[in-house]
Amino acid sequence: MNAYRPQASDIGFILFDVLRVQDSLAQLPALAEHADPDLLRQVLEEAGKFVGEVVAPLNRDGDEIGARFHDGQVTMAPGFRDAYQAFWQAGWPALSGDPADGGQGLPAVLEMVLYEWLSAANHGWTMAPGLLHGAYECIKHHASAELKDQYLEKVASGEWLSTMCLTEPHAGSDLGLVRTRAVPQDDGSYCLSGTKIFISGGEHDLSDNIVHLVLARLPDSPPGPKGLSLFLVPKFYPDGSRSAVVCERIEEKMGLHGSPTCVMRFDAAQGWLVGAPGKGLNAMFLMMNAARLHVALQGVGLLDAAWQKADGYARERQQMRAPLRRDPSQPADPIIEHPAVQRLLDTQRAWVDAGRVLAYRTAIELDVAKHHPDAARRQQAAGWNALVTPVLKASWTDQAFHGASDCLQVFGGHGYVREWGIEQIVRDSRVAMIYEGTNEIQAQDLLFRKVLADQGTGLLATLAGLEQDLQGLDSAAAARALSGLAELRDMLAQVTGGADAQISLYPVAGDFLRVVTLVLMAWAWARLEAAAAPGNGAQAFARWVWPELAMRIGMVRQAITAST
Ligand SMILES: Cc1cc2nc3c(=O)[nH]c(=O)nc-3n(C[C@H](O)[C@H](O)[C@H](O)COP(=O)(O)OP(=O)(O)OC[C@H]3O[C@@H](n4cnc5c(N)ncnc54)[C@H](O)[C@@H]3O)c2cc1C
Repeated sequence: MNAYRPQASDIGFILFDVLRVQDSLAQLPALAEHADPDLLRQVLEEAGKFVGEVVAPLNRDGDEIGARFHDGQVTMAPGFRDAYQAFWQAGWPALSGDPADGGQGLPAVLEMVLYEWLSAANHGWTMAPGLLHGAYECIKHHASAELKDQYLEKVASGEWLSTMCLTEPHAGSDLGLVRTRAVPQDDGSYCLSGTKIFISGGEHDLSDNIVHLVLARLPDSPPGPKGLSLFLVPKFYPDGSRSAVVCERIEEKMGLHGSPTCVMRFDAAQGWLVGAPGKGLNAMFLMMNAARLHVALQGVGLLDAAWQKADGYARERQQMRAPLRRDPSQPADPIIEHPAVQRLLDTQRAWVDAGRVLAYRTAIELDVAKHHPDAARRQQAAGWNALVTPVLKASWTDQAFHGASDCLQVFGGHGYVREWGIEQIVRDSRVAMIYEGTNEIQAQDLLFRKVLADQGTGLLATLAGLEQDLQGLDSAAAARALSGLAELRDMLAQVTGGADAQISLYPVAGDFLRVVTLVLMAWAWARLEAAAAPGNGAQAFARWVWPELAMRIGMVRQAITAST
């Protein structure tokens, strides 16, 4: 079974030829010195080497041996700790951190690529550092000076890992139901009691300390989300003593065996408030948003990993005669020559490449929203991120699972047995549709909070930006994207129609998200084609992905008509 191989040149093409990130970075004073493709390529080459040589080879043991629980402790799979120690000591978690906090101050897009590759190479291992950047931002922007002194640098560097403790047995999508209590103490700290479940990396031996960020409720707080506050509780306090945070067990799961999913008990554990009382979700927002993007990249990466395996296999495996390209010197042709197999493979490329364009553009917009000198441009970037993040999370995790299943099909029976490792990707990828807000919740977030809340104004502005970007591109792909934009705009006018129409939209929120996805993909493929993207992805998008648009628009329109 071959381990995942990062391809820096593929990424370079998208960053420098399709998106021209060097031009965007040149406009940001804080990052202009990094607007040099050669320098960025060097970082990518090094990252690719680390991922391919250190992290990817551990993937199989992560699945087969996995994380093991014994007496409150978790031992990670062989090699995981050493790889993690090498990872943070080489400075990878601090890639885009502020130099004032020990970070390297590089563009966020490099971190995106790094995490996409890490997820492709070893999803289980990557769960641990995947939350670091969000935790760093959360502590940096919301913690007290004293907490920052004790924790910020350690989390920024990755020396200490972090968790996000939200879910409880009765509180999943609905965090307003959280019951964990935080009682104020005379010394200004809080005493936390309650049980959190499904906590990724709640306990492990990768790092010497773990910093838990915990949503809990103060005694006099109102019910619901407005009564939630955020607290920091470490595994070990600065004086070396252990906190009363206990890992009760780890879950037995369908996949992702390399990542311990922990039940964590807070037995009157001492912690400290992060942000203002009652503003826990607000303080956690940066972390949750970073985590959502991270999960979207898991989708892109896992799909690429599945495609890489299936493509390699399809070139070697010979069965039956191909209708068009028969090799008379062989008794049978490689299965990649069968149009149905080719279609399965090319469809995944259509998704991976468009996903990369959209995810990397989102990373650039993160930096634009932070550093651009023009306030209007910063606001436009924030608008893009708000709309595109739920779309990327839901659609690319959906495709990672369904596309990995299609890639398994390319192997026939050999995909169903363990030898080739494709069945692991199908099992591992499934959870990305569930955590960080299920994909249904993402769809509702997009439609009700991002689009209907402002009567579609933000979405229309983003569509206008895309339309402008397509002007001057004289291609079938650009014409397709423009027609999609017009159809979405048309549908939007009906969607924002009235209260009755809006209620009838609940069951089709996912279809609405899919329409937005397809239109964004059409824009991405117009851009990819304009840069002369190699391969069959463009054709596959036009033939096998784009026709879904009419069906989804039909479903949304039908829901509206039914309500009137
Ligand atoms: C491997 C793994 C790792 C995880 N890691 C973490 C972690 O590190 N930290 C953490 O806090 N949590 C973590 N989680 C928890 C995860 O975020 C939750 O499982 C998820 O938010 C869904 O909550 P739930 O499982 O309780 O499902 P529920 O909320 O009970 O939902 C059940 C179903 O109902 C649907 N549903 C619920 N409400 C609505 C609605 N309003 N509209 C439409 N559909 C709805 C959901 O989409 C879902 O299909 C993890 C989970 C797993 C499996």
